[in-house]
Amino acid sequence: PVDSIEGPTVKLKNGALVRLNSAEAVRKVSGEVAEIVDLGEMLIDYGDFLETGHQLMPGAYSHEWWLKELEARGEAEEAKKWRLKTPSQTEAMELAARFAVPLHPAYTYLWEDITEEDKEYLTGCICEKGILEEKTLSIPADDDGRIKAILEGLLVLHQVKKGFLAIDEPGALLGCLGISEDLRRDGSERLKTRNKAPTRIGVRMGRPEKSKERKMQPAPHSIFPIGEYGGKNRSLKVALKEKVIEVEIGMRRCNDCGNEFISSFCICNKCGASNFQSLGMMQDARSRMQVKPASRDKKSIDLWEYYQETLKKLGEPYGARSHDASPVRAHNKLDVKCVKGLISKQKVAEHLGKGILRAKHGVVVFKDGTIRYDFTNLPLTHFKPGEIGLSVEKAKELGYSHDIKGEELESDTQMVELKQQDVIISVDAASYLLKVSQFLDSLLAKLYGLPSYYEASSKEDLIGQLVLGLAPHTSAGILGRIIGFTKASACYAHPFFHAAKRRNADGDEDSILLLLDALLNFSLFFLPEKRGGKMDAPLVLIPFINPKEVDKEAHNVSIANEYPLEFYEATCSGKNPKEVTIETASSRIGEPKDAYGFGYTHETTDIAAGPLNSLYKTLGTMVEKLDAQLSLARMIRAVDECEVAETVIKNHFLRDIKGNLRAFGSQTMRCSKCNAKYRRIPLSGKCKKCGSKIVPTVHVASVIKYLDVSLRIANEYHVSDYTRQRLELLEKDVNLLFPAVVEKQKALSDFM
Ligand SMILES: [Zn+2]
Ligand SMILES: [Zn+2]
Repeated sequence: PVDSIEGPTVKLKNGALVRLNSAEAVRKVSGEVAEIVDLGEMLIDYGDFLETGHQLMPGAYSHEWWLKELEARGEAEEAKKWRLKTPSQTEAMELAARFAVPLHPAYTYLWEDITEEDKEYLTGCICEKGILEEKTLSIPADDDGRIKAILEGLLVLHQVKKGFLAIDEPGALLGCLGISEDLRRDGSERLKTRNKAPTRIGVRMGRPEKSKERKMQPAPHSIFPIGEYGGKNRSLKVALKEKVIEVEIGMRRCNDCGNEFISSFCICNKCGASNFQSLGMMQDARSRMQVKPASRDKKSIDLWEYYQETLKKLGEPYGARSHDASPVRAHNKLDVKCVKGLISKQKVAEHLGKGILRAKHGVVVFKDGTIRYDFTNLPLTHFKPGEIGLSVEKAKELGYSHDIKGEELESDTQMVELKQQDVIISVDAASYLLKVSQFLDSLLAKLYGLPSYYEASSKEDLIGQLVLGLAPHTSAGILGRIIGFTKASACYAHPFFHAAKRRNADGDEDSILLLLDALLNFSLFFLPEKRGGKMDAPLVLIPFINPKEVDKEAHNVSIANEYPLEFYEATCSGKNPKEVTIETASSRIGEPKDAYGFGYTHETTDIAAGPLNSLYKTLGTMVEKLDAQLSLARMIRAVDECEVAETVIKNHFLRDIKGNLRAFGSQTMRCSKCNAKYRRIPLSGKCKKCGSKIVPTVHVASVIKYLDVSLRIANEYHVSDYTRQRLELLEKDVNLLFPAVVEKQKALSDFM
């Protein structure tokens, strides 16, 4: 969040109008806010206009614009003096008078938002009844609250004290109204101002932030098939109760010794040769396109023996089923979740040992054999080492030797430029990846008999390690390097890194995986043949990003340290973004250092200062979320809460109820025990496979869950007749389909 621009202005319950410029200021008034009068400023990069081809919009009068105007008066020295500090009100008024520049934006009110009549009324009130004492102007509040409304419209901060509206430092207000210090009209020295809020923009929440390990439903530890033997939970422990299981699994035959073995081995488990053929496959290179599908016949596997063999190989405690020694019992507690069946054409299974080790380390596998962590992408070009938990020594080790001014790195508060393939991951991701690294180390040591690689015991040990960034719908992993951690639920990386992952910028959420995980555990043979089956898998590895080849959107990021006065003037006349010259990343493309030397225009105290988890994620039910949204809508002056209510009902609830009603009518039924699916309930009323109870897959409760809340909100917020009637019709349908159950069990005597 950019905290160097203007924050929101709120009205407190005691009537005071205050500006909240920091998170701390917000916390101080929490619970006291009656209305959010103005949401504050928003910073939009020139590149966004360039990318979308949108005409430039008049910008709010700002400090950097004011500096440019001072420079244009030939006062470069004066401008330099004020570059990093805001003048006091008295200084601002002096500067305006001396150099004939508009009043500094910090003391500029929203004059364009009030009418001439209001201005005249306010001037009259101040001159007739105002009292100026010790730099505080007090105006008696009028009966109809008109003065207060005008002050709120102007965003003139004030307190309410005993029937008076008290304004501290009223100099700029008086100066702009043309009132002298003895509160008389004085038309001669009216201050010149620029428009403080010429363009307003509405925003809404897009997608809540995310930082979470990838989990399939249900989440397996191992890509090893155990069919129905594992029960609902696909539990290896349950499957082991049967010694031998019959599952669809690919087999291989050793060309050297003729041994047949399951496809989870890459070498013959008898003679150790890697010369084998997959059974049921015509291995003809020339007619690859016409390979016969692997035999679908189920194979008998001695799961118990394979399990014991695997434990032995891993050096894990193992033993007979009946009399367990204690370490064995501990091991048996570990429930390894497998898969029901394999989705790939050749039904290649993973080595069971990998699953056992994953379960031991508490990590789960994705369908391609890798372990993923998903999070929201946030672009970043500069950071301070301290901000991401990086010490100066470590930063230097990683190649961050100098700050942006070219000075040697000595303190962790110096600003440095992010290298284009470095990533800063969330703290949550770090603790998960730490577990993944430990899994990989035991995998190397126990299954492959190799030395461990990461040897990480804390998240700091992951700094410098390589990862792959991968976007859904693509199959190219981009090599990255972990350099630090953020408490934000996101992954910070260079705009080029985020752009390189994607074919176009169609989303904002990607995954990362440890490089070694992809190298050891990914296999094309786990992926299904079907179209799209090879998406979201690291098929190729891109070691170096060529800025020329990334999506054009990233080239449009502006990299200037400041914008020229002509730019601000161009915004006022609504010019096309191409008509002005601002340096963007594209201007460096092709040069040797094309991803470096970027500038930025606004400082921020802490890149992760925003809310770490939005209410949308922390609130439990949809009704709670909606109530929170509506209560916020009521508080924000710019938002019509009735429209919010109508939009939510129209776009979400009506569609949800209708869709579920339809789904209910055409649903399949399932067996409550073995999960067999039925298009219709069998005449017997029971599962034909196991005789258990048949239950619906779509439940009444899920169909009508939003109906009551929709009706309540429709009444409370006076939504349009049309929407209300649509809801009422839907209610009729629902009542017809699910008549209220009032019938109780009847006694036989009732019929006699
Ligand atoms: Zn062999
Ligand atoms: Zn059944």
